[in-house]
Amino acid sequence: MLCLKKALLRCKTCGAEYDAGTARFRCDCGEPLDLVWDGAAIDTNERCQARRYAAFFPFDASEWTSLGEGGTPCVSIARFADELGLKEVAFKNESANPTWSFKDRGTAACIAHARALGYTKVGTVSSGNMAASVAAYAAAAGMEAFILVKGNVADEKLAPIAIYGAHLLRVAGPYDELYKESLRLGAERGIYYANSDVPFRAAGSRTIAFEIAEDRGFDVPDWVIVPTSAGGNIRGIINGFEDLLRAGLTKRMPRFMCAQARNNSPIVTAFANGWTQIRRAPDAETIAHAIDNPFPPSGNRTVAELRRLNGAAVSVPEEDIIRAQADMARAGLFAQPASCVPLGALRIARASGIVKEGESAVLVTTGGGLKYTTAFAAHKLEWRDCAIADLPDILK
Ligand SMILES: *Cc1c(COP(=O)(O)O)cnc(C)c1O
Ligand SMILES: [Zn+2]
Repeated sequence: MLCLKKALLRCKTCGAEYDAGTARFRCDCGEPLDLVWDGAAIDTNERCQARRYAAFFPFDASEWTSLGEGGTPCVSIARFADELGLKEVAFKNESANPTWSFKDRGTAACIAHARALGYTKVGTVSSGNMAASVAAYAAAAGMEAFILVKGNVADEKLAPIAIYGAHLLRVAGPYDELYKESLRLGAERGIYYANSDVPFRAAGSRTIAFEIAEDRGFDVPDWVIVPTSAGGNIRGIINGFEDLLRAGLTKRMPRFMCAQARNNSPIVTAFANGWTQIRRAPDAETIAHAIDNPFPPSGNRTVAELRRLNGAAVSVPEEDIIRAQADMARAGLFAQPASCVPLGALRIARASGIVKEGESAVLVTTGGGLKYTTAFAAHKLEWRDCAIADLPDILK
């Protein structure tokens, strides 16, 4: 069994602490939990996330089940910096992960935690990237996976999850109840439910921060912009930068921007109105379907973190998301719509003066474009048919 060192999970909201050696997914106060573990050094000779950042996790890293998650490129694109009068606009391209989204970082950490606690079964409630990621890592670790998806999920979204050999259950009934029932049944039946913002998923996302800092010689950017749904990823990235600062590896914190689709922006709304509690967003469709959680479980915490760290929250209209997707693709980076929301947010934040001339920004490109081919319909994509004999004329 994987070795788990004695570590704590802490609630940043009420201060309660719990032993990380138990399957504990939320604080009794209802807010999310963060791993407390003081790392000190990065092993730069290791490429694997678990071994490179082993000092930042309470595991014996040699037994971590890895599919090569992390180590993704951070691509600086000059045309966006020129357009916006910024020193740099870079994209942390998480579609280079094994299942084409950043979720693999947190999943790897959850699977390690589950194995350390003696679990042989894992699951998640998701119909998108998280489901595929958990199914893939469960397969790699030789664990049984029980994936629960909402009743209205289309068939074509299920095959990319089922291919990994998971038990896939499409469940009729309200989503909130499904989430709660998964945790209840998981505890009863010995299934580790790695849902949206569980502590070790956020702990895995810290490595995005580690890599952004490492790539820049530990000189952090002015802004890190994160497309946000449940809030697990942005929480993890913030924690990662705080860990680096505490370890003395960096000298300052970047500022963080939470980017949401305007059609579904409960965190942005709460931040803008000075609320400490998010309110459920009205039901509305967005092309950025990977970030359409109307009542994010880490919403209150994200709002509090943004206030504490002088951050920002910006929502992006549908047409700006589509334009950002087209512009990024035309710069060579084809990401799913949710992952293009940060560029839309940066444009809005630059126009309104939140982001100042000459600053630098890293945008987290959370998942690949082929994950959501429905979005092709939003673009006027063209091609034409011709015969070989026509080519000399056409290509002249
Ligand atoms: C899951 C996901 C997000 C949102 O991350 P949260 O931790 O839920 O805030 C953003 N983009 C993509 C592509 C995702 O799969
Ligand atoms: Zn609490």
